Amino acid sequence: MRCPYCHGADDKVVDSRPAEDGVAIRRRRECLVCGRRYTTFERLEELVLLVVKRSGVAEPFDRAKLEAGIARALSPSIGDEVAAALALEIEEQLRTEGVEVPSERVGLAVLERLRVLDPVSYLRFASVYKGFEDLTDFEREVEVLQKTTEPKSRVPGSG
Ligand SMILES: [Zn+2]
Repeated sequence: MRCPYCHGADDKVVDSRPAEDGVAIRRRRECLVCGRRYTTFERLEELVLLVVKRSGVAEPFDRAKLEAGIARALSPSIGDEVAAALALEIEEQLRTEGVEVPSERVGLAVLERLRVLDPVSYLRFASVYKGFEDLTDFEREVEVLQKTTEPKSRVPGSG
């Protein structure tokens, strides 16, 4: 921070406190050059998370969009609050993986959770996503699920 009085570049923070419900920080600083005090107001910018499509186009992660996508796929018996919770959980996970994530990764993160939660919702989500882009990963996922849900031993001639 540059001192507004002498434009010195050295300062120390003498007090920090959250402002605007915690989305900003107000700092009281003391200039180490002229000794005067001033206040800075720093907004906590949300860390950017970009979703990179197959085409190479990156767009900011949109949790509301993801939530809506999950909600559409969920079986009616599952409440909408589950979609919100999953979207939040997935966002947190993706943020630990880097600033840019491939769009398939987002879809797979949803599928990983839906597979555990509800197979019907899982397949619906997989089929919806397949409609958007040619995602062979999803097809593979669906195949895996179909294999694991089919009876292990089939009587010849019955199916
Ligand atoms: Zn100064």
